[in-house]
Amino acid sequence: MNKLFKQTLLALAATVATVGASAATIKIINADPAGVGFNDTTPATPVGGNEGTTIGEQRMNVYKKVAKTWGKVLPEGPAIKIQATWEALSCTSTSAVLGSAGAVSVWRDFPNAPAAGTWYSAALANTLAGSDLDEGTEPEIISRFNVNLGAANCLAGQSFYLGLDGNAPTGQIDFAVVLTHEVGHGLGFQALTSGSTGARIADETGVAFPSQWERMMFDNTAGKTWFDMTDAERAKSAINPRGLVWTGANVTTDMPSVLSKGTPILTVKSDKFPAIAGAYQVGPASFGPALSSSAIKGTIARVIDQADGVTGLACNPLSAENAALVAGNVALVDRGTCSFTIKVKNAQDAGALAVIVADNTAGGPPAGLGGADATVTIPSVRITLDDGIKLKTVLTPTDPAKHAVRAVLGVDKAFYAGADAAGRVMLYTPNPYQSGSSVSHWDTLATRNLLMEPAINADLPTFKVSAPKDLTLELLKDIGW
Ligand SMILES: [Zn+2]
Repeated sequence: MNKLFKQTLLALAATVATVGASAATIKIINADPAGVGFNDTTPATPVGGNEGTTIGEQRMNVYKKVAKTWGKVLPEGPAIKIQATWEALSCTSTSAVLGSAGAVSVWRDFPNAPAAGTWYSAALANTLAGSDLDEGTEPEIISRFNVNLGAANCLAGQSFYLGLDGNAPTGQIDFAVVLTHEVGHGLGFQALTSGSTGARIADETGVAFPSQWERMMFDNTAGKTWFDMTDAERAKSAINPRGLVWTGANVTTDMPSVLSKGTPILTVKSDKFPAIAGAYQVGPASFGPALSSSAIKGTIARVIDQADGVTGLACNPLSAENAALVAGNVALVDRGTCSFTIKVKNAQDAGALAVIVADNTAGGPPAGLGGADATVTIPSVRITLDDGIKLKTVLTPTDPAKHAVRAVLGVDKAFYAGADAAGRVMLYTPNPYQSGSSVSHWDTLATRNLLMEPAINADLPTFKVSAPKDLTLELLKDIGW
């Protein structure tokens, strides 16, 4: 029996809340010091069905309900102990790590292990073995949440919504959803094998073993699974945008009831410049109408630098010249300086049919366009920096009628959004590699949005982990739960 990945634990303390036990029993170990996090005594008004009267109590009430949600759908087994703390996690004024969680240890060749010589996360290993493999000395999962969220240097102005009803107002992040996501990682929604180096976890004698995930991680370009790859091949696969898929049977079977048919796509048509014609990958917007089978068709008009010194970013109301260019056309603008919603709204106000935002940093696939603005009524998408440059080389900015490069923004009905042609759901493999996000999440193209995408989307339902609302439980079943 081997155990690794042991983390140094904080002093365990205080309260243990046990939730169960019709199926799995989950114990939350509150390891916060007095007055902090789950022990924060700041008075709070009950909100959204959460009757707690302090911030700390409300936070714990959400955790208990999340633990109950997971407990109900997982098989019976030894208690799953989750250590929980509130700490300073990395943030800037515009982004923040909301939380993080993972298995405390991984195990192989334990009693009843489904596959030999293969790592499993601690909670799953215990359940498969039917006993607590470290005899209860450690939690199986560690979870941390960002205690500074909302401060000036930490996603300023945002806060966690602590209601239990899924009605987080705009500007608040539903803590229940974040928690459900993080516990999902801890239960086994993590590749274990390194995506940045491709290296497998080695035991204390230095011998490396695959994780159970590897058998279901299939690279469509390489034509093989991570299980059959070298370290170098795995590292390459981890940055193969939209090229790595999950082949597990539970996910693949339930996928059609969760994802919608039709993957967003930009088709560029040009008789004059055949080299730029073809299909372009797009990242969809979280605001405005989604692309649909009723495609938007129009000539592409590039927003140009304005006479008043304002550059072609569409961060200000468009000049008369730019407005004339984009009216009735599809506006092409650059990413940068202001939010996506401002750019799209300015193009909309000038009469654009839709907006294409060209990225200003290299890499792929094109990420989505984040933000919220209920007054945006036209669709918008992001394309990569390289694709933006390709288009801009042929667009005569001052006269779209002359270059006549046309855009068709719609969906490809041959694909489910977030799955490959064979109906296998894509894992998140952006290039460059994103530490903490790459590989161990679904691709952001998934529509409906999934719980285990790298960023928490505002439209996720609360306390849902399986089809037809989600696919997290299906993946956990695929690895042995
Ligand atoms: Zn995550």
